[in-house]
Amino acid sequence: MNNPSNNNTYVYLYSDLDKVESHRKDWDAVRGLLGGKGANLADMTRLEIPVPPGFTVTTEACNAYLAAGEQFPEGMWEQELKAITAIESATGKKFGDAQNPLLVSCRSGAKFSMPGMMDTILNIGLNDDVVKGMVEKSGDARFVYDLYRRLVQMFGSVVMEVPDEVFEAVITAKRKEKGVASDSDLSAEDWQLVTTHFKEIYQTYTGSPFPADPLEQLKLATEAVFKSWNGKRAIDYRNAAGIAHDLGTAVNIQTMVFGNMGSDSLTGVAMSRNASTGENVIEGDFLYNAQGEDVVAGIRITQTMDELKQEMPAIYKEFSDIASKLEQHARNMQDMEFTVEQGKLWLLQTRDGKRTAQAEVKIAVDMVEEGMITKAEAVARVQPSQIDFFLHPQLDPKAVKSATVWGNGLNVSPGAAVGKVALDADIAEKWAKDGEPVIMVRPETKPDDVHGMLASQGIITSRGGRTSHAALVARQFGKPAVVGVEDLTFDWTERTIALDGITLHEGDWVSLDGTNGTFFQGEIPTVVPSLENPELSKLLSWADEIRKLEVWANSDYPRDAQKAKSYGAQGIGLCRTEHMFFETSRLPVVQKMIMAKELSERKAALAELFPLQCGDFEGLFKVMGGDPVVIRLLDPPLHEFLPAYEELMHDITDLKMKIQHASELDQLNAHLDKLRVDEDFLTRVEALGESNPMLGTRGVRLGIVYPEIVRMQVRAIFEAAVNCKKSGVDVRPKIMIPLISHINELKLEKEILEEEAKSVLAQHNVELNYEFGTMIEIPRAAITADELAEVADFFSFGTNDLTQMTFGVSRDDAEAGFLVHYLGRGLLQDSPFDTLDQKGVGSLMQLATQRGRSSNPDLHIGICGEHGGDPRSIAFCHRIGLDYVSCSPYRVPVARLAAAHAALKDEQNS
Ligand code: ADP
Ligand code: MG
Ligand code: MG
Repeated sequence: MNNPSNNNTYVYLYSDLDKVESHRKDWDAVRGLLGGKGANLADMTRLEIPVPPGFTVTTEACNAYLAAGEQFPEGMWEQELKAITAIESATGKKFGDAQNPLLVSCRSGAKFSMPGMMDTILNIGLNDDVVKGMVEKSGDARFVYDLYRRLVQMFGSVVMEVPDEVFEAVITAKRKEKGVASDSDLSAEDWQLVTTHFKEIYQTYTGSPFPADPLEQLKLATEAVFKSWNGKRAIDYRNAAGIAHDLGTAVNIQTMVFGNMGSDSLTGVAMSRNASTGENVIEGDFLYNAQGEDVVAGIRITQTMDELKQEMPAIYKEFSDIASKLEQHARNMQDMEFTVEQGKLWLLQTRDGKRTAQAEVKIAVDMVEEGMITKAEAVARVQPSQIDFFLHPQLDPKAVKSATVWGNGLNVSPGAAVGKVALDADIAEKWAKDGEPVIMVRPETKPDDVHGMLASQGIITSRGGRTSHAALVARQFGKPAVVGVEDLTFDWTERTIALDGITLHEGDWVSLDGTNGTFFQGEIPTVVPSLENPELSKLLSWADEIRKLEVWANSDYPRDAQKAKSYGAQGIGLCRTEHMFFETSRLPVVQKMIMAKELSERKAALAELFPLQCGDFEGLFKVMGGDPVVIRLLDPPLHEFLPAYEELMHDITDLKMKIQHASELDQLNAHLDKLRVDEDFLTRVEALGESNPMLGTRGVRLGIVYPEIVRMQVRAIFEAAVNCKKSGVDVRPKIMIPLISHINELKLEKEILEEEAKSVLAQHNVELNYEFGTMIEIPRAAITADELAEVADFFSFGTNDLTQMTFGVSRDDAEAGFLVHYLGRGLLQDSPFDTLDQKGVGSLMQLATQRGRSSNPDLHIGICGEHGGDPRSIAFCHRIGLDYVSCSPYRVPVARLAAAHAALKDEQNS
């Protein structure tokens, strides 16, 4: 151990951190070797923070032990013994000595924290002789026997796997016998008897006596930590958390300090800042006269750090100085364990604290302002998914604090939902229609259940994992969900659900938190954290300084555009004009236009639509000021605007019946009129009918067959633009022609449309900055992008269609059918409609970008598919050099941050 050239060093004293660093390339590697807990204990030691002396047995020793079939690697045990000697001289105590005994704890600690992997064993080194000596010397038998029983209990349950309940039952019986409520009210004699009893239990369960030799205790405890790495608990945890299985765990052996040595002793845990709000105040709990996990075990009511401040101001001051020193050092909020032994403060652990999204943002921003971290670090620290927190309602944290969790499962879709239990999709839908909030609770969900899921506030299922149908659909539609609640049972005759002895009837209230996978009985109030949070605005403004991609939004209506702009959108990347055609008041005119038998008739209908369209565009332009607005010309096949075939057939049969039975002439005439209209519709629907509308007469094809429709749209766009310009509003219209696959389509279309544009401008004698461009959503367009770019001013990737056409699947059919199987069986890692398929669809995008720019270096390129709001897809768009991403308004803040992350990553790599 004292020979750094020996590469079989398995044991490092906390005071030997420099030795580790001399042969590890960075802190990450140090943590890899010593584990997070060990590395930080050594680091605190170097910072001269009071840490009880100790040492770490490395993760490499653990791996060697496991690889050798549970044999300590050569030299390891000898090194451990030497390290014990070193602590003995540091503390002036001796392991196993009855007069002045050294006691130690044995704590596991992997590179990444794995809660619940192996419990810590305190007070190693006690035996009957040592206990006797300690009692004589300290005169405090209660204290000593409390330590002893803890050792036997922890050693028994953790190392030898004696069920802990057996031990706990003895203590409970003792409390009853004595008529006391709390462990701390038991006497020395009580603990002595409990210890004797514990040793008997130990002997019964393990077949051998409790080991009296402290070195034997140490050895078995060390081995137990190594073995725990491959325990079921640990493996399950690693699988769930995505932690590699070959890291191994380190073992920390550390001098005991005692928080249970009387009223000037205590033990506690504290965060350097508030983990829920991020406020810069120390928050924590402590207990007088307690040891180890008593604070978190909930056996006694804890006290707050404010109370510590009042009752032990000097200790509090020392602790708060240490907390800020540790924060400065780690440049992050810290979660610390501490103990005060007879008025002396000791730190036992520190690590970066877990916190809510809100606290994450506030802490990051505050730390920049305190000069602790850079803006870029603050931006990098907040994850785009955390921005979701500010967009979804949350259960009111205050109410949650006083509620008890009823159950938990997998947190597959974030956000809070509160509603009445509905046990099937039809009920869910029915109640929702009546205005009741519902939570659909099912064993699992199937495509037939989607209508119920859509009607629900949230979803709970007892089966299924992260890629179950329920999880997939919930995420896709932004429904908070908890799935895989295995112990939840259903009674279909009583229509009840039960869990942990609690039964709820259909219609009872539940509240769920999809962010952490918990749910509660009853109705918990919700709060919507605001995007107008000042810290978030600041953080996003820093993200804006960093990112290279512009962030635009998809908005069809001025009110959405307004929202998008307030979230920071720099333009409209997609305005879908068909929504304007679908509006109830306009649909009859649109239908008249479609039904027209003659061009003149159609033009008359279009003339009626024209002023309405003008108004639509004017609204958008006004909101966006001088920012670009991309307007996509009519895209869907025309039959979508007519009644559905089945509906017409049904109505016609119905009308014919009514006509046969009509008794009054007026009635008969009305029916006959309606029949004529329906039959006309039917003829037209039949004529327009296509066997594959998705691949039929839509997009630019529509514009080529019915040029008068798109001409009207373009005229409306330019009239609106001219009007705005005249009233002093700057405008930048960009006309986007959808579904191009061949250059000739684009040439023809652009020619007739630009002619229209020019005529409007000439008529008003106005000049405008406008552009014509195309969507890239068919593979052929991507491949021939160099040709298209000679005509187009801009490209926008319509990645929904591009994904459909590249995979040769229809999204609706995939999502209602086979996609769940594909994801469940791992054929696809992610739905290509959620996150860009970089290899396939992404390659086409990259190719189109390169080819497009090769023939038109000024070509402006963006993406307007939903992928434009997905952080991974955004990173890809950054890498291939797009100019902007466009997403739905409420994804804009997420996209701003994700784009900044992509840029930061770039910097790191260069
Ligand atoms: P976990 O990883 O589960 O938090 P720890 O190893 O941190 O486990 O220890 C469990 C509890 O025992 C903590 O409260 C810790 O502070 C306490 N503890 C561990 N080692 C010692 C020690 N040497 N002296 C006093 N308390 C200790
Ligand atoms: Mg623990
Ligand atoms: Mg701990």
